[in-house]
Amino acid sequence: MDFRAMIASLPCLTLILVTLGYLTACVVAPFGRCRTCHATGRARSRLARARRDCRRCAGTGLRLRVGRHVINHLHDEYDASKR
Ligand SMILES: [Zn+2]
Repeated sequence: MDFRAMIASLPCLTLILVTLGYLTACVVAPFGRCRTCHATGRARSRLARARRDCRRCAGTGLRLRVGRHVINHLHDEYDASKR
């Protein structure tokens, strides 16, 4: 492999490494911080000034990562195919 081919393959290699890193993060830590309530679990209602439980995370302050949704879906499809 010459130097130019190695340089040309760097973006693909970087993309693969970033994807594998994100999937590893989804397996190790499936929950991320809720962006709506900034992980407080409380969100301000639009009409009143009162703070209520965040509807997106149900007051937990955590949300399931998108990659974990994909992993769970693939796992459910795999289980369904075995039946
Ligand atoms: Zn929230």
